[in-house]
Amino acid sequence: MLKLTEPFLEALYIIESIENAGHQAFFVGGCVRDLLLNRKIGDVDITTSAKPYEVQAIFDEVIPVGIEHGTVIVRHRNVSYEVTTFRIESDYSDNRHPDTVEFIDKIDQDLARRDFTINAIAMDKHGEIIDLFQGIKDINKMLIRTVGNGQDRFREDPLRILRAIRFSSQLNFTLERNTLEAIKNTKQTLEGLAVERITVELEKMFAGENVQSAITYMKELHIDKHLPILKQNNVILRLSPIIQPIHSLAELICLIHQVEPAIDIRNIIKQWKCSNKIYREAVKLCDAIKYYKSNGLNNWLVYQLLPNSLEGFARIANVLFPNKITIDQLNKIKKQLVITSKKDLKINGNDIIELFPANQKGPWIQELLERIEKLVVEEALQNNKSILKDWLKWNPPEVK
Ligand code: ATP
Ligand code: MG
Repeated sequence: MLKLTEPFLEALYIIESIENAGHQAFFVGGCVRDLLLNRKIGDVDITTSAKPYEVQAIFDEVIPVGIEHGTVIVRHRNVSYEVTTFRIESDYSDNRHPDTVEFIDKIDQDLARRDFTINAIAMDKHGEIIDLFQGIKDINKMLIRTVGNGQDRFREDPLRILRAIRFSSQLNFTLERNTLEAIKNTKQTLEGLAVERITVELEKMFAGENVQSAITYMKELHIDKHLPILKQNNVILRLSPIIQPIHSLAELICLIHQVEPAIDIRNIIKQWKCSNKIYREAVKLCDAIKYYKSNGLNNWLVYQLLPNSLEGFARIANVLFPNKITIDQLNKIKKQLVITSKKDLKINGNDIIELFPANQKGPWIQELLERIEKLVVEEALQNNKSILKDWLKWNPPEVK
């Protein structure tokens, strides 16, 4: 029996409320695995015999995110809990969702439908463990092993192939021999996966502490040959000798473009169906890398990376360049910046228009502001209204 600590104690309320309504409920999946591994617990997921409408009736604040698959989110003290009804599922013919889901009364089969033994462990409110597939033994041996026949499980949902490699990266676990063989025999089924599911796994895989071992699996099993973008121009081979953990898709996209410039960012965004936000972030990081290559570390580089891209830049730069850049170095420069955004400039567009009343409004205003912004950041010009106005008088716009 394990002693429950936070965040499980906080979640006990959910388990007890469901039990008080006459149903069973258990902690399950990643949270139990991570508790046994002494790792930081992410989301606390709960599995229950209560049907989704019954769960909805028990709690005040519920979000029916995937009722047809048995999942509702219960909110308790500002935390979200996924509460999923015991279920069995049939084929994933759209490679996204199981075709049919059948709710069941006992936990056994629910645990049997889960991907790996280490993810198929449940725990009750007392900390009593239910481990029907020797998950604890595999945790101790640091092994990723499918629940049941690997080939069947991977064919059922090929995403599990990527999940296996992702967990090897996050946990520093090895793929168990039969599981590895099963991947070899089923890897081409990856081609049918929805790209949105692939990128979620890639993001987590590259963020794992042991991303190097994940890349080694990708390389040795030729998994990359069945994945969009990664199948092009030996991207994985290029990343393999240098890779370190990175934290976002934007960082990954930038890195791919850096190691293989023939693959442009737009192309990755399109094939991976990423958002414009990710596109802009990837471009920002790549622009910063390019600038750094010619200018090194300086105010303007750091300023351009504000407000949120300093750490991402440091991570990518450390993968790409031998001389390490620390986040402390970047923060030190950030602290000394005279301005941190255009808004801090002591002059604005209206001031410029007033200074040059004869000129027609146009892009020149923005261009002048940008010149001033750069000079102020570089400390070549003081951020003082009268000084900036003087500068403008000496550097009038070229437009008539
Ligand atoms: P993370 O730390 O990323 O949250 P996790 O193990 O909790 O890891 P989730 O994707 O949150 O992973 O899924 C929760 C649980 O649901 C898993 O532990 C596993 O038992 C089950 N599961 C998730 N995806 C699959 C899948 N594709 N096939 C079978 N079982 C799955
Ligand atoms: Mg989880």
